Amino acid sequence: MSTVKDLNHDGISNLLAIDEEYASPKSVAPNCLQQDFAGECKRSLQAPEDFWGDYALHFQWTKPWTKVLEWDGVHHQWFVGAKTNITINALDRHANSDRRNRAAFIWLGEDGSERIITYGQLHRQVCRFANGLKSLNVRKGDRVVIYMPLTIEGAIAMLACARIGAIHSVVYAGLGHTALRDRIVDAQAKIVIAGDVGFRRGKTVALKPIVDEALDTLDFVEKVVVFSRRAAEVGSAREIDFAELLKFPATCPAEEMDAEDPLFLLYTSGSTGKPKGVLHVHGGYMVGTTYHLENFFDVGEQDIFWCTSDIGWVVGHSYIVYAPLCAGATTLFREGAIDFPNPGTAWEIVERYGVTKMFTAPTALRMFMRYGEQYPAKYDLTSLKVIACAGEPLNPEAWRWAQTHLAGDGKWGYVVDNWWQTELGGPAIGTHPSMAMRPGKAGVAVPGCEADVVNEEGKSCAPGVGGRLVLKRPFPYMLRTVWRDPARYERDWEQIPGCYVTGDVALKDKDGYITVLGRADDVLNVAGHRIGTAEIESALVSHPAVAEAAAIGIPDPLKGETIKVFVQTRADHVPSEALSATLIEHVRRELGPIATPSALEFVASLPKTRSGKILRRFLKAKETGKDAGDVSTMEG
Ligand code: AMP
Repeated sequence: MSTVKDLNHDGISNLLAIDEEYASPKSVAPNCLQQDFAGECKRSLQAPEDFWGDYALHFQWTKPWTKVLEWDGVHHQWFVGAKTNITINALDRHANSDRRNRAAFIWLGEDGSERIITYGQLHRQVCRFANGLKSLNVRKGDRVVIYMPLTIEGAIAMLACARIGAIHSVVYAGLGHTALRDRIVDAQAKIVIAGDVGFRRGKTVALKPIVDEALDTLDFVEKVVVFSRRAAEVGSAREIDFAELLKFPATCPAEEMDAEDPLFLLYTSGSTGKPKGVLHVHGGYMVGTTYHLENFFDVGEQDIFWCTSDIGWVVGHSYIVYAPLCAGATTLFREGAIDFPNPGTAWEIVERYGVTKMFTAPTALRMFMRYGEQYPAKYDLTSLKVIACAGEPLNPEAWRWAQTHLAGDGKWGYVVDNWWQTELGGPAIGTHPSMAMRPGKAGVAVPGCEADVVNEEGKSCAPGVGGRLVLKRPFPYMLRTVWRDPARYERDWEQIPGCYVTGDVALKDKDGYITVLGRADDVLNVAGHRIGTAEIESALVSHPAVAEAAAIGIPDPLKGETIKVFVQTRADHVPSEALSATLIEHVRRELGPIATPSALEFVASLPKTRSGKILRRFLKAKETGKDAGDVSTMEG
């Protein structure tokens, strides 16, 4: 792993000279704007136990905690001794109230199909399926791998596991058989719940053959529950039809769980290294993710919230399934590609359903930018108050484009960035709707979170000086350990004293806004200057001909590394040598001579993980003839 010990100040601080600020359009987020955000941040750090303890009282617990936090510097426990089950708060609380007939989920298919399920109905379906799982001898603590298309049934499978205390591990239904197999083996899953097909870009994607191949010779898997949409015959004796499990009684008391009992394992997307099984728990995860949904993204009971992620990723766990249900909101989600059948599809949906808040990724915004503003311009998007964006650096140009064309230049909405990881379960850095947005900067540490940029000794870097992005204390929704590899978890707390090392490189401005420069492993070293991939890529994307870009370092005997960039042009621009020269010159002007790319290659598309992150590691391996490491989550 590369270090940032020799991080060159001149290199970085001069490079990221973007100094724009856009004031919050104050009317966009009426709920969370009532709070004093700076005050919340301060209180959460001064009195974390009171802060989280007070908020946790919003939830139903079957036994109260004796202590809010126990932390030994590495391991942390929250709401010690308390008992609950996340599904009591996600389902029973609403199903037993006058909210029972409100829509919990609106599901959409690419072919225009729509399904709406109320809190009351969802509660019954989850209970039925939970009883079905019990009939298969699934018990508290057992692992269940879920390989399902983005459907209501996928969410039911997750919630039913949680209901009976089984630990689910969702694998994105798009990963190949090796990735699926590795995860089933690592989790030692007793049961696999899988779809027969998914639908994407008008095509039927066969999932069952992938499952069959992954499961071949894995005898410890006792049953495979098949969610069949193509009337596929249930095959071997090990298989059982999903529909059979929905025939069980609609009452199933929630298993009483310790606040610290595992809720799920989720293997990280693999943008670096070998995937790891991140473990999240019932209590703290519920409290923390819901806190941020309500108070950071401003989502509550009145909202139609569209999260464009998938249940295969952490954003989908937290912000399609668990937190919106705990908050009593209506979540809209859609199977398939967001730009299919046409580039205006997303905006047609926003208009039709009156979507109020949206959670999406930079890769989607860059894609919309590539298509052009004529598509959103056709629809009424004025319902859309907050567009939160996470997963990768949000390039300033993509932010400006989205703020102008999706949020009406602030007349009705606001595009805000937030930074987190699978390990964290929810946001740790971000721009609250009441704050000014500084393009190129993810924002500040959110309430409950103490983020800093430090050198290898753990000393805070001065503003504008790059270093490691660390967290200086745990928060309730952060991972508890790495499944079957606790040492891997402990290492992240032990590399730098008193810090959880996130693996990202960043810099902070004088007001605490943080710019994430990229993964430490991706940061380039050109003639002794450390340069973030995010800076070079954002400089390229700021040119009107560029839709997306990736930067990598190529080993060079003289300079250490030289920069090679890969560029995908916007719809109305054609690659040419002249354009290549213009773009290289553009980067030189924006960032200075040391950041000038030595080579530029136009590509039709960039290699990405299935969650939409650019796989620089793969590009670099191809260029240098080295092994790309784990690429199991790469888009096929
Ligand atoms: P994953 O756990 O696979 O979702 O990846 C987490 C990583 O994505 C982080 O460590 C960052 O490198 C990157 N990331 C997530 N959100 C942002 C953001 N808002 N800005 C920059 N990078 C981000």
